Amino acid sequence: MPTTRRDFLSRSSLAAAALGTAAILSENGVAAEARADTAAESVKRLKLPAKPVILTKVGPAKALDAAYQMLTDGVDTLDAALYICVDCENDPNDTSVGLGGMPNEEGVMELDASCMHGPTRGAGAVGAVRNIKNVSLLARMVMDRTGHVMLVGEGAERFAVAQGLKREDLLAENARKAWLLWKENHSNADWWGPGMGSPGWKDPFDGKTPESNLHGRIPRHPGPEWTPVIRERSQRLTEMAADLGIPLEQRWNAVKEVLWPTTGTVHVSAVDTKGQMSSSTSTSGMAWKLPGRLGDSPIIGAGCFTDQDVGSAGATGSGEENVKIAGAVTIVELMRQGLSPREAGLEALRRLVRIYNGDMKKVRYLDMIYFVLRKDGAYAGCSLWSTGPDGKPRSFMVHDGTQRTEKCEYLYEGYYTAWPPF
Ligand code: ASP
Repeated sequence: MPTTRRDFLSRSSLAAAALGTAAILSENGVAAEARADTAAESVKRLKLPAKPVILTKVGPAKALDAAYQMLTDGVDTLDAALYICVDCENDPNDTSVGLGGMPNEEGVMELDASCMHGPTRGAGAVGAVRNIKNVSLLARMVMDRTGHVMLVGEGAERFAVAQGLKREDLLAENARKAWLLWKENHSNADWWGPGMGSPGWKDPFDGKTPESNLHGRIPRHPGPEWTPVIRERSQRLTEMAADLGIPLEQRWNAVKEVLWPTTGTVHVSAVDTKGQMSSSTSTSGMAWKLPGRLGDSPIIGAGCFTDQDVGSAGATGSGEENVKIAGAVTIVELMRQGLSPREAGLEALRRLVRIYNGDMKKVRYLDMIYFVLRKDGAYAGCSLWSTGPDGKPRSFMVHDGTQRTEKCEYLYEGYYTAWPPF
């Protein structure tokens, strides 16, 4: 029987519904159907995981154990994911999340967080929130208790207080002192000025290696391998730190924050044996950022994304670039098309590199780790570079009955150059 235009249109919209996208109206209805089938088939083939699986950054080991126990006890996957984020937010020694994080350029803490709940397909996010420590819980409150998905700034803070969260001073003493030191050492090498995507951007090192690279390593202590520039800088900063009253035992940490500003974020993706998935992400963002700046962490689809049919992903690294490629949703969509977690994560990293057409003068300033979890429990950690600024392999933590740290799959051998460089 010949296909009528009406048949074709109704088949196309069925295919579009299966894809969850707007109607695909092509001249070739068969191609549209085939695409829908491929995506649906690769998702249908996924089996339920035999055991729950949780992925997160290297660090919160105790919380990861506890969260895993929650999953084996049948607790909801979002509760388990948030348990780890809250643990990092409450830890004053975690300098990239919640209390103890590094402040913005005015010395004020502004926190970002987001979460997604697979079973209900809910999402919540908050950005640039001051004075509220547990922003991951606040993101969930936005999801559960409002008709919105995202609140930012003062409105988010007022909403938090209305929901019973306490205002508190989030600037830990060592973070305040590190900020003071940075402020006194201020120069034009900061987040002001044209970004790398702008035609006005000039490579401050014209392709040469900045001293701040220091063989990719942030040393634990000043050492003999130091170049004269780093020696001179750290000496000057150490003297300034002493003048600012930073105690001797904290001085080197404060100097390191100025020379190699903290980066980091906690992301958690979890799946239980029913195949229910959730994710959450929390960060204090880039150290010394402009007030009001949001990175990828509070952006649903960039720093955090879960699709109950397919999988979950999240990120830590260069937030501005990750927003440009909607990293987390890109990874999940690639898995929907049948790519493995590893392939999907690496492909998203290639898209990051594509932003700058592979120009390594720019790519060297980018950093990224993706946490990727598929609905059947398959997972991967994927990083742009093989090692971190500490010289250690880029890694992530996983719990699937046994807790362990695994190395990331990576795109480039080497390490990134911290921004701002010197
Ligand atoms: N992605 C975070 C942000 O852009 C920072 C990080 O993870 O290092 O705020």
